[in-house]
Amino acid sequence: MTAPLMPLVACDHCNLIHRPVAALPHGQFARCTRCGSRLHGAHVHSLDRALALALAAAILFLCVCTFPLMHLDLQGMQARTALPGAMMALYRQNMSALALLTGWAALVAPAAVIASMLYILLPMRMGRVPPGFARVMRGMQFLQSWAMVEVFMLGVVVSLVKLGKVGEVHADVGTGLCAALMLLLTGLSVEFEHRRIWQMHDILRFGRMRDQLSSSQSAAQPDQPLLVCSTCGLICTAHGEHCACPRCNTMLHAGRPQSLSRCLALLLASLLLYFPANLLTMMETTSAFDVQEDTIISGVVYLWQNGSPDLAVIVFVASVVVPLLKILCLGLLLACVKWRWQIPRIQQSRLFALVEFVGKWSMLDLFVIALLSALVDFGPLASVRAGPAAIAFGAVVVLTMLAASAFDPHLIWREPIKKTEGSNG
Ligand SMILES: [Zn+2]
Ligand SMILES: [Zn+2]
Repeated sequence: MTAPLMPLVACDHCNLIHRPVAALPHGQFARCTRCGSRLHGAHVHSLDRALALALAAAILFLCVCTFPLMHLDLQGMQARTALPGAMMALYRQNMSALALLTGWAALVAPAAVIASMLYILLPMRMGRVPPGFARVMRGMQFLQSWAMVEVFMLGVVVSLVKLGKVGEVHADVGTGLCAALMLLLTGLSVEFEHRRIWQMHDILRFGRMRDQLSSSQSAAQPDQPLLVCSTCGLICTAHGEHCACPRCNTMLHAGRPQSLSRCLALLLASLLLYFPANLLTMMETTSAFDVQEDTIISGVVYLWQNGSPDLAVIVFVASVVVPLLKILCLGLLLACVKWRWQIPRIQQSRLFALVEFVGKWSMLDLFVIALLSALVDFGPLASVRAGPAAIAFGAVVVLTMLAASAFDPHLIWREPIKKTEGSNG
């Protein structure tokens, strides 16, 4: 086999193998010829830029954790909260599971992602591969889907509007820092491109880019099946039942093991919990005169009637539509894969991309409750507490995210469908 100019890449969604376009015009993207997913762009990834962004993100993250996000003045009673304070408020209300979930998504996962990037980038910038490189890359891949700084930021905006109806509320320096951190992390996710980092790893360790169709044996036979490593994207020839990726040692599978049954079990559990999450009390507001109990829907109605129809729509979409959409879409995809329903596979693939994209936004309401509980905490005079629905809702968010990650999108493309179908090939 002749030495390639560019290593082959496999599409993340359907595993079709492509030769990347060496010189793409600026601002253009190469797309998979089968499912239309983005393969790579014209952007030249720079280790220096990624490192600078990661260092800036680390400093900004520490500032966001330290400085207050907002300041409330409720008839002379004052309160401020920073990011960790919002999670601690839930913990004080004996809602440890919710405190853990919101803390995990807004604090632990983003911090771990930034720390892992620095752990990888700093030594690589100095020409070394850090110990445990593959394990850290694998961990980061998992953590990135749980890091929700942008959803938390939207939660801050919704909380500011909600609190503006009951007292005087001001955004503090922490809110601006959080918005800047969100932008930095977006830039960092573009700059820190996993395939490119693996190529740099190969150059540092072996002095060259690894050839495609890597194999633990010397010569690949033409009839040997090709497998794509889920961690590093290396295209490998399979040898027997249990073989590991020669680059990162991840076990290679033709598909995620028990993908359909695991996804179905998680979906059924989330469907069961969707009803208490919508019917029970999500938030309990105590004032000197009465106690008001709000479900998700009554919270939306409150926003709508108090002059914030735009935010009412956002909360309704994030808290009611998104979880249900995820459950229905994943259910439909499971049925398509299991019973070979004749829905064009490109549309199934787009549906799955949508489910993956909207997944994390349903955490919005939980962040809002955490922030309101931390700020409105004046004992019997005025306080906000999370209700039982918040726990059920948190479980729905986690279960639907796990269901989406259990579903193997390659199953959509596994066998040919006999009827004609849409494809942009
Ligand atoms: Zn594809
Ligand atoms: Zn690998």
